[in-house]
Amino acid sequence: PLAPSAALVASVKSAATRNELFDTAAIQKLDSAHYLHPFTDFKQLNENGARVMVRGEGIYLWDSQGKKVLDGMSGLWCVNVGYGRTSISEAVYRQMETLPFYNSFFNTTNVPAVQLATKLAEIAPPGFQHVFFTGSGSEGNDTNLRMVRRYWDLMGYQERHTIISRHNAYHGSTVAGASLGGMDGMHAQGGLPIPGIVHIGQPNYLEAGQGMTEDEFGLKAASWLEDKILEVGADKVAAFIGEPVQGAGGVIIPPATYWPEIQRICDKYGILLIADEVICGFGRLGKWFASELFGIRPDLITFAKGVTSGYVPLGGVLVGDRVAKVLIEKGGDFNHGFTYSGHPVACAAALENIRIIEAEQLVQRVDEDTGPYLKQRFATLGDHPLVGYTSSCGFVAGLNLVRSKGATVHENVAFDEALSVGMVCRGYMFNNGMIMRAVGDRMIIAPPLVMTRAQIDEMVALIRHCLDLTYEDIK
Ligand code: PLP
Repeated sequence: PLAPSAALVASVKSAATRNELFDTAAIQKLDSAHYLHPFTDFKQLNENGARVMVRGEGIYLWDSQGKKVLDGMSGLWCVNVGYGRTSISEAVYRQMETLPFYNSFFNTTNVPAVQLATKLAEIAPPGFQHVFFTGSGSEGNDTNLRMVRRYWDLMGYQERHTIISRHNAYHGSTVAGASLGGMDGMHAQGGLPIPGIVHIGQPNYLEAGQGMTEDEFGLKAASWLEDKILEVGADKVAAFIGEPVQGAGGVIIPPATYWPEIQRICDKYGILLIADEVICGFGRLGKWFASELFGIRPDLITFAKGVTSGYVPLGGVLVGDRVAKVLIEKGGDFNHGFTYSGHPVACAAALENIRIIEAEQLVQRVDEDTGPYLKQRFATLGDHPLVGYTSSCGFVAGLNLVRSKGATVHENVAFDEALSVGMVCRGYMFNNGMIMRAVGDRMIIAPPLVMTRAQIDEMVALIRHCLDLTYEDIK
């Protein structure tokens, strides 16, 4: 009695596939009339109309006109186990029937939150026994800001409040998240960053590595952290935050020398290290957490997205023993938290999602089988006349569209920005059954971890076809 009947699920699904229920023009009209979308030029969207997504199954989506599309972005880097997982909807339904909500304030707790916290401590890297739940990745990074400052206050270092981040980082869209991030367009709106947050350069070899090997550049980019620490004053720096692989900035994979050197510098000055694994966590790079892949020992790990595969919102911070010990042993209220911290329904979804990842060995598959296969197949796109550079790591990858290729990646000739070639290419992808995101002229993917070898072949062929269409258009 606690699960939706198979007949009900089937009837909803078949209605979605039949399309009679969806009057696209009417939905678009209402969408324009009432719905302000995130990160969107409202005027432009209202002129063109939004694409209406109605159903998902595995790695595919269908829109309101019945068109099938391969979702190369896992929704928004989050649908790790793919669409249509009935066991997650059943877990959510059961929890809603039992206890849809209760808060974790005022010395109360709930069973799924306790179970999930315990499970996360089990799959986290060594030295993580605690978690602080939030509703999103942005709130997770707000929590980091409050928590590292609280930590240093409790340690008796009230001056240690500055957080160092990087240009072109993405850490969310709340005021603290956007300030920690290094997106110029976000900073320009609303007077960001807030005080106490400073930025250094990103480890982007293509952008700044000319004349160096990748390894040399990795050390150089890490040295910018030490320069900034000395500029701010080591006794004023609370923490350094970074995404192990920058996602929204364009899938920027740092040289192998970068993170170990960052770790060494943080250790040298006693600075806390925050790994923002909102994208990289939960198997995306072939480990439960990418910190393991890059050999770093962060003090705090932000997570969201893949924890529930996006089925319901959930985020949080894994709190390492160094910080947790001080917060707990010194006592006193931490005046921070959210209504939905430890939401029982979200935690129930996460538990089932993690069970699926384990049962289907998705982390191991990406590490040992499909990740290396994707790397190999994606690299073949490098022979396309438009493609000047490809790179990948686990289940994220990107390629750069260039006007002409040089002898080295630094000698490639870029397109004039005004041509927006990335957006043109994205349009061809979108209209031909492939979702690939454009960051300037870099085209990126982060497919669901359930993608098979055959589906990787299908995706790479589809990308090549859309690159051909783009080439024909602009050459
Ligand atoms: N941190 C990183 C690395 C992200 O990629 C994102 C979202 O894309 C966030 C934080 C913010 O997460 P949310 O959109 O859930 O607030």
